[in-house]
Amino acid sequence: MPPTDPYLATYARAPVTFVRGEGTRLWDSEGHEYLDFLAGISVASVGHCHPDVVAAVREQTGRLMHVGNLFHNEPGDRLAARLVERSLGGGVFFTNSGAEANEAAFKLARKRRPGGDIVSAHGAFHGRTFGALSATPQESKQAPFAPLVPGFRAVAPEALAGSVDERTAAVIVEPIQGETGVHPIGEEVLGGLREACDRAGALLIFDEVQTGMGRTGTLWAYEQTGVVPDALTTAKALGGGLPIGALVCGPGTRDVFAPGDHGTTFAGGPVVAAAALAAFDVIDDEALLATVRALGERLREGLAELPGVTEVRGRGLMVACDVALEGETGAPELARRALLEERLVVNATGPATLRFLPPLLVSEWEIDDALGRLGRILR
Ligand SMILES: *Cc1c(COP(=O)(O)O)cnc(C)c1O
Repeated sequence: MPPTDPYLATYARAPVTFVRGEGTRLWDSEGHEYLDFLAGISVASVGHCHPDVVAAVREQTGRLMHVGNLFHNEPGDRLAARLVERSLGGGVFFTNSGAEANEAAFKLARKRRPGGDIVSAHGAFHGRTFGALSATPQESKQAPFAPLVPGFRAVAPEALAGSVDERTAAVIVEPIQGETGVHPIGEEVLGGLREACDRAGALLIFDEVQTGMGRTGTLWAYEQTGVVPDALTTAKALGGGLPIGALVCGPGTRDVFAPGDHGTTFAGGPVVAAAALAAFDVIDDEALLATVRALGERLREGLAELPGVTEVRGRGLMVACDVALEGETGAPELARRALLEERLVVNATGPATLRFLPPLLVSEWEIDDALGRLGRILR
C-alpha cells in the first residue's frame, strides 16, 4: 500500500496483497501460502487460474477480444445457447456484473408491466447500482443515497406472496440470501410466491448471482426448491474468474425486450465468454455437483462441533456459521485473525456470522484443514 492510499474508502481492505493463485491456494507478496475459503466471494468456483480457463482466455485474447453487441461472436453465441439450454429455455442478456444483470431484469419487468412495483425481501442483497440498491432494503446501504428509484418496496420473505397484486411487475428473491449471512428462503415460501405471481401475472425473478453455477450443489439453486422462476440472474462464478453476468429468461419473458430497449458495450465479449464456457465445462458435471453436496455436509457438521459456534446454515458449499464468543471478539475480528494467523481466507457477513465459499474443487482433506485452522482461532 502506498503511503497515501489512492483508493476511495469504500472497502476496509485487509493488509495483504495477493500475487498468485492456484486452485484453492493463494500466495501473498511475501511468499506466504493461504487456503482460500472465500474464492473472491464465490467467483473462483473452479479454483484460481484453472488451467482450462487460462488456456481458453490465452487462445481467445490472441484471436479476438472485442467486437461489441452489434455483431455476433462465436464464444458469446455458444455461451448464450448453453445457458438457455441448461436453465430456463428462453433467452439471455449478458452483463458485466451481478448488479447489472438485476438492472436488466428490472427494466424487463417494468417494460412488461408499465409502472409496476418491484418487490424484494427483507435481508436481500441485489447490488450497489441505483436500481439494485433500491431492491436492497438495508438502511445503512440505502440511506446515504436517497432518494432511490421509485416503485421498489420490500417485505419479509414470508409476506412476499401476500404482497403481490396486479400492480406488481416482479418479485426478486435470492433462493438463499448470501450477503446477509446465508439464509435459505423456505420451500413453502417460494412455492406460495410462485402461485401468487402466477395469479397476479407478476414475474418471479431469482437472483442466482451467488447461488448459481454449482455453488449449492446443483447447477442452479432453484433446482432444489421445487420452483422454476420466470427469469434468473447470474454473475460471480459464471466467468471462471473474469467479470460476466447474465439475465436468463424463460420462454414467457424472452420476447419482452425489443431492439434499443437495453444495451451494454462490453458484455458477452469473446474473452469472458470463452472463460465462462471453460468454467461451465468444469461445473456442469453431476459427479462434481454430488461432491459439492457431500463436502458441504462435511463442512457444516465440522463447524457445528467447533467451540463458540451457535448455528450453521447453508446448502452445498455456500455455508455460514454464527459465533458467540466470550468477550468482544466478533466475526470480523475472527476473520481477520484467520487470515493473518492461520492463513485461512473467510469473511464475516455481519458482527456474528462467518461465511465460507471455497472453490468447488476443494478436497475433503482441505475441508478438515480449514476446520482445524478455524478451531485454533476459536479456542
Ligand atoms: C454479489 C451479488 C450481487 C452483486 O453483484 P456485483 O457483481 O457485485 O454487482 C447481486 N446479487 C447477489 C445475490 C450477490 O451475491
